[in-house]
Amino acid sequence: MNTSVIGYPRIGKDRELKFASEKFFRGEISEAELRDVAKSIRREDLLKQKEAGITYISSNDFSFYDNVLDTAFLFGIVPQRYKDLGLTDLGTYFAMARGYQGDKGNVKALAMKKWFNTNYHYLVPEIDDDTVISLTGSKPVDEFVEAKESGVTTKTAIVGPFTFLKLARFTGTKKIADVSGILTSEYVKLVSALAGKGLELIEFDEPYLVRDLNGEDIELFRNIYSEILANKNGVKVLLQTYFGDIRDIYKDVTSLDFDAIGLDFIEGKKTLELVSGSGFPADKTLFAGIVNGKNIWRNDYKKSLDILKDIGVSDVVVSTSCSLLHVPYTLAGETKLGDEYTKHLAFAEEKLAELKDIAALAGTDYESEEAFRKNQELFSGRVNSEDKEVQAAVAAITEADYVRLPVRSEREKIQKDKLALPKFPTTTIGSFPQTPDVRKNRQEFKKGLKTREEYVEFNKQKIAECIRLQEQIGLDVLVHGEFERNDMVEYFGENLNGYIFTEKAWVQSYGTRNVKPPIIWGDVSRKAPITVEWSKFAQSCTDKPVKGMLTGPVTILNWSFPREDISIKESILQIALAIRDEVLDLEANGIGIIQIDEAALREKLPLRKSDWYSEYLDFTIPAFRLVHSKVKPETQIHTHMCYSEFTDIIPAIDAMDADVITFEASRSDLQILDSLKENNFETEVGPGVYDIHSPRVPSVEEIVSALTKMRAKIDDSKLWVNPDCGLKTRGNEETVKSLTNLVAAAKQIRG
Ligand code: GLN
Ligand code: ZN
Repeated sequence: MNTSVIGYPRIGKDRELKFASEKFFRGEISEAELRDVAKSIRREDLLKQKEAGITYISSNDFSFYDNVLDTAFLFGIVPQRYKDLGLTDLGTYFAMARGYQGDKGNVKALAMKKWFNTNYHYLVPEIDDDTVISLTGSKPVDEFVEAKESGVTTKTAIVGPFTFLKLARFTGTKKIADVSGILTSEYVKLVSALAGKGLELIEFDEPYLVRDLNGEDIELFRNIYSEILANKNGVKVLLQTYFGDIRDIYKDVTSLDFDAIGLDFIEGKKTLELVSGSGFPADKTLFAGIVNGKNIWRNDYKKSLDILKDIGVSDVVVSTSCSLLHVPYTLAGETKLGDEYTKHLAFAEEKLAELKDIAALAGTDYESEEAFRKNQELFSGRVNSEDKEVQAAVAAITEADYVRLPVRSEREKIQKDKLALPKFPTTTIGSFPQTPDVRKNRQEFKKGLKTREEYVEFNKQKIAECIRLQEQIGLDVLVHGEFERNDMVEYFGENLNGYIFTEKAWVQSYGTRNVKPPIIWGDVSRKAPITVEWSKFAQSCTDKPVKGMLTGPVTILNWSFPREDISIKESILQIALAIRDEVLDLEANGIGIIQIDEAALREKLPLRKSDWYSEYLDFTIPAFRLVHSKVKPETQIHTHMCYSEFTDIIPAIDAMDADVITFEASRSDLQILDSLKENNFETEVGPGVYDIHSPRVPSVEEIVSALTKMRAKIDDSKLWVNPDCGLKTRGNEETVKSLTNLVAAAKQIRG
């Protein structure tokens, strides 16, 4: 049986791409040097897959920042404001990705959104009435040729036109239907250009097909692909789907002239039913996604081989369920985790071996094969550590534990009296710049080069400076700055029982930002107070209120690699009880405002609306309430969410029953405000007034204008003024300037 990989990690085993890009941004290396680093990452990734014996390896899965942006760029979908900067190609590309502020002008970046139900983010292509869609780039062709020169014949993977159009933002009067024809014909030109270089197979990634589709969508898809498939130029076409099943369009997809169809058997609950129930055409190859591209656990070969048997299709290729972009490179980098752990794990490189094993075992009398037996040993009996006390605590949760009293409107009055904040209170989301000295302090402590006293002393000094700075700037609700945290989830994981950690298991979150999710190994509980010492110290430095800063249970789970031997719900409740202990300890230590970040609340929201409540919100929202339900009425609970993509779940967000919520709004043009108003949103809100994902400093006028728009939709008594996320990725200088302008803007509207 043949094997296929949809896409491979591309940041470099040691995050070479991040470091080189950042050097390039700082002007320390040239474009040519950056391109060289990229080239060697591509080469190494390809050769890894080739050595592992993978049949279908993708090229064009590499990206300097994001594949959706690459696709937009390829077809000349570059808004005029970026062209006007007159930069080089790569300069324009990065301006779209990160914004630009310099001698050539000042523009914001494109909007950035979560890629389906992952923690990867894509840049939203913008199409206006003047956009001329035309195949102007050559990245897929160049990378195919380059791969071939490295000795690897690849398939070209590219975001398909349907998904691309569905994700694009139309800023003028034109709609999808007005541009789909021209975009399709440009894709056809691309296929022909690739055919000219000897491409045999092109992979169109169409994850959008796993969402709820209506008749119009289906017609659009049919139109696009009828055209593409009528112009194959001798290239075979693989329609690749992932992140779910394609129940709404399966019949249409199988009736079109695709040579191969890729389906997800991991997240696609109905995939098997569709294939065995509706049949699969004999003239097509089925790329069966059975090696999970998102988890880090070993594949259970028995389950996979059973699926292959049940599929009952003769022409099958064993594939990853989605791109391996979402998992780390290799276990080879993990020197500290013992074999008792690592034998249960599989990162990208190990997944290649699994693909090969499964392909080799399929159709044989595998029960007696060594590879099969060794694999099954991993699944006999419980491996993860148990804590009976935690299990009992979860079992003892009652309905009353999910309810905070008195009701929010009463709390609001009590809190306004007690806190006596000015109108339009100003605050930040928690972290301050993680400058090199801050990182160094943590690293030296971790390596044992610094004593705990020295480490704490340094952080306290940082906290004191940070408080002083915030007082000088004139902010109303202060934070301690999060200097002790590497990452908002890993930090809590390190302080909870039940977690294990990796050294180098980085995964791309967006652009040059990578995260290293911890792994939930066993039952979770709190070892000891986690943040109390820092928050208490920070509060002792000032008379202004300091917000305690925690990460909520849903985000901790969503940004960890979760267990698969117990339900997500049970894991979340375990974490919620641990964080609840911390909330109550903060309160008992005089912290009157506590922020519980749920940055990633939406991340695992099912892609189909019909599953939203029953499979997710019905237990995640109560789990959040469980964390804060026992605090006193005067304790103000804040929460923060990255991205304002909750327009359609506003009642659920209100039902978190927080007192204040802050969220990203600046990159999405404040679209959410209307929905807040329509839904009579009760929680006080701080929609971010400027974008922290870019180094650009917002002007006072710009912030005032954002606030003015907000005031049109949000009651003055409920509006907070804050940036749209934590400042940890920013530099000191731009942070001080931006916050100074933010406070000036708040003062201006107060006046
Ligand atoms: N409190 C965190 C910070 O400020 C929140 C980060 C986030 O939302 N991703 O960094
Ligand atoms: Zn955020």
